[in-house]
Amino acid sequence: MQSKKSKVAIVAGGAGFIGSHMCDALIAAGHHVICIDNFQTGRWENLRHLERESRFDAVDADVIEGLPARLSRGGLDIAFVLNLACAASPPHYQADPEHTLLTNVLGTRHLLQLAERSGARFLLSSTSEIYGDPEVHPQRESYWGNVNPTGPRACYDEGKRAAETLSFDYLRAGRADVRVARIFNTYGPRMRADDGRVVSNVVTQALSGDDITVYGTGEQTRSFCYVDDLVDGLMRLIVYDGDYRGAINLGNPNELTVGDLVDKVLAMTCSRSAVTYRALPVDDPRRRRPDIDLAARVLGWQPKVPLEKGIAKTIAYFLTEAKAAAGRSSK
Ligand code: NAD
Ligand code: UDP
Repeated sequence: MQSKKSKVAIVAGGAGFIGSHMCDALIAAGHHVICIDNFQTGRWENLRHLERESRFDAVDADVIEGLPARLSRGGLDIAFVLNLACAASPPHYQADPEHTLLTNVLGTRHLLQLAERSGARFLLSSTSEIYGDPEVHPQRESYWGNVNPTGPRACYDEGKRAAETLSFDYLRAGRADVRVARIFNTYGPRMRADDGRVVSNVVTQALSGDDITVYGTGEQTRSFCYVDDLVDGLMRLIVYDGDYRGAINLGNPNELTVGDLVDKVLAMTCSRSAVTYRALPVDDPRRRRPDIDLAARVLGWQPKVPLEKGIAKTIAYFLTEAKAAAGRSSK
């Protein structure tokens, strides 16, 4: 593995959509990255380009079970522990709710303990879902949220709230140097075609000519952040050395309805897909938009990629993926 002097970043969930982009950014910043992933929703394809990278290792492990012993044995100069492990799409995190909850509670505990033992900085990828179906709009970090603790989304929402609680307890006790990002809906290349989230669903449906599935009336809103902008925000948060220690929203405040998103994607793909309406999932938040004043003030961060540009890159990614899949099946 790594010589004693190099700085190591542990990326739990590094084979996933955001995690794999963070592996790239950390390597580009000169760090050695060790990805820990159970490949529940993560994919080797997201890491294939790092196969020959000497500053990259990947371990197949579930953070619920504890971390690989070699990480705790010493000899590694672990500077950062990033917790990005957790399926983020409602159908995936609801498929095994107990696993989702425990990933956030036990997995976060194991990673905090690793940060404590190594004196590493710890980053938790929390979520806008901790605001639940918000009664305050836009959502500011000071808002405590409106989460149904017994509904089908609770394994994720309450799991993340508990992960924040544990992280801030470690911080207050001086056990770990903690940073918490509340990430709002993020999209871009390396999302799975079968991820189930609205951007990947609508883009893949539009490209294949399948019916577009709109849940509810399509009047509910979200604010979509392109992955490069998010990665920039997370990298700033990791190196942040100022006095501020609370959770920080990272997202793009450009709010639109699901219906508007569908219209945009249909126009950009010149698709003739029809739109079908399905039942709105239980506890689906009606609206969501981040207040990012804090991130601007503390991190000097602003998202830069307009929705049209980000969606165009996402369309190009799914087109390439579809061509590659067609090539494989014709062999
Ligand atoms: P993703 O599903 O693509 O990635 C999650 C990764 O974690 C996958 O590689 C998965 O295999 C891995 N994983 C899940 N449970 C694990 C476990 N117990 N042990 C080891 N690995 C495990 O999702 P993503 O969109 O890349 O999300 C990454 C992180 O960001 C998650 O923590 C998610 O909650 C958070 N987040 C994402 C969004 C978003 O819009 N993408 C929004 C808010 C928060
Ligand atoms: N949604 C939709 N069609 C889909 C997938 C999702 O209309 O095929 C809706 C979903 O009900 C929600 C919004 O789009 O109102 C965003 O869903 P997503 O799963 O992407 O993110 P989250 O609900 O976690 O914010």
